Amino acid sequence: MAEINKGENAVAIENMVRKVLEQIAVGGNAPATSGLSGFTGANGENGIFTDMEEAIAAAHKAQQEYALYPMRRRDDFIEAIRDMVRRPDILRKLSEDAVAETGMGNVDDKMQKNKLVADKTPGTEDLITDAFSGDDGLSIVELSPYGVIGAITPTTNPTETVLCNSIGMLAAGNSVVFSPHPRAKNVSVFLVSELNKALAALDAPPNLIVTVAEPSIKSTEAMMNHKLVRMLVATGGPEIVRTVMSTGKKAIGAGAGNPPVVVDETAIIEKAAMDIIAGCSFDNNLPCIAEKEVFAVEHIADYLIFNMKKFGAYQVTDENDLERLKKLVLNDKGHAETSCIGKSAQYLLGKIGVKADPSVKAVIIDCGFDHPFVQEELMMPILPIVRVSDVDSAIDLAVKAEHGFRHTAIMHSQNVSNLTNMAKRSQTTIFVKNGPSFAGIGVGGEGYTTFTIAGPTGEGLTSARSFARRRRCVLVDGFNIR
Ligand code: NAD
Repeated sequence: MAEINKGENAVAIENMVRKVLEQIAVGGNAPATSGLSGFTGANGENGIFTDMEEAIAAAHKAQQEYALYPMRRRDDFIEAIRDMVRRPDILRKLSEDAVAETGMGNVDDKMQKNKLVADKTPGTEDLITDAFSGDDGLSIVELSPYGVIGAITPTTNPTETVLCNSIGMLAAGNSVVFSPHPRAKNVSVFLVSELNKALAALDAPPNLIVTVAEPSIKSTEAMMNHKLVRMLVATGGPEIVRTVMSTGKKAIGAGAGNPPVVVDETAIIEKAAMDIIAGCSFDNNLPCIAEKEVFAVEHIADYLIFNMKKFGAYQVTDENDLERLKKLVLNDKGHAETSCIGKSAQYLLGKIGVKADPSVKAVIIDCGFDHPFVQEELMMPILPIVRVSDVDSAIDLAVKAEHGFRHTAIMHSQNVSNLTNMAKRSQTTIFVKNGPSFAGIGVGGEGYTTFTIAGPTGEGLTSARSFARRRRCVLVDGFNIR
């Protein structure tokens, strides 16, 4: 627990009482400190603070201590985090609470995602030292901590992002202050407090991972502008990415995507259909990498749709139903309606009066390129399919629909030239060939995982090395043994 003297303690208690009274006065919900998170502790207990300033000061103190720890202790702490997440009770609670609080996604897929992070997020092994040796001696370049990192996390993968950021940032020797999305605050606060308990059991410096009980735009702004926060990492939509990049601090921006899928006439259509529906319906389409629209060469389009239906797609064809679906899932500004994001296909169909079998995993529609479902990042298991005359037109339209995010694209084809052409044209951070989108983050595909995929700032799939500074150390005239 953070050391706080009596004066500070009294102020903290006074602040908490004032907050409770304010909430009662406006008839609001119970404060976060007694919400789903179950956080009822004192200010600073298990890394949860009432005030952002105090949270940052505590994380700064922790990092200064942590910087003196040997690497093997970092490994121990990261292993403790992995073990904590893998506990069946914790894994289930994190996943259930995230769905309950945000109203998005489904528990089974969230359990898989959290477990994936525990298993496949790189630790200290990711920090590779470079060496130069010659007549003048030996120089090494080592990956060192920034200090305190401020991390802003989304509603769509709230616990997954806190977990993968914590592992990577601690592996690189930093401490981290989280600013979770206010709509995911309780589950995030719960997770941060569990992380603190796991670290405390190994006598780690207290407050390596902290947050505030009531995250808000104001507290995020305070964090972004604080002089002790040396690096910012934003996982979210375009606005927050733009904001962190304009702070003047080192920033990593992991922003929006609108991943297109191209299916050409050489693809193995049955497998393409299966992969596309699996990727598009995973956690009700919440992952930023999930398939969002399909461009199918006319020649195989009917057969692709036929197979998609075999793998759990429901095609909406009735004009009135299509209109109702549009009204349901788009808001006044024509963007994704928040209350529909991450909802199941069955829920969405039910809302427009279509009773679907429980096996239905995704809604498909046959439409033109200009349809808003093609252009907007919906984050719902709704997949528009656009027919195109040939593969080159499919690639052209796919690149346009991706809107220059350079995030993720998927292609199903057996033609190497077509695959290469799409990879070069799209310039996406992740390009998956002949698999579901989640193969790109290590599920059924090679490589490590992350839920912070930094296209705009270029780190790509972030890992410990993304959260480290390169520092050179030079020994003159020594240790060259060649
Ligand atoms: P969001 O942009 O609404 O929120 C993300 C975070 O930014 C939240 O913590 C939010 O509170 C904060 N935020 C947003 N605007 C802010 C402002 N003006 N000032 C201070 N804080 C602000 O995103 P979301 O709905 O939670 O997540 C979905 C979006 O994030 C999608 O666009 C998705 O593609 C993207 N995303 C990207 C990645 C990636 O790795 N590239 C991962 C997950 C989500």
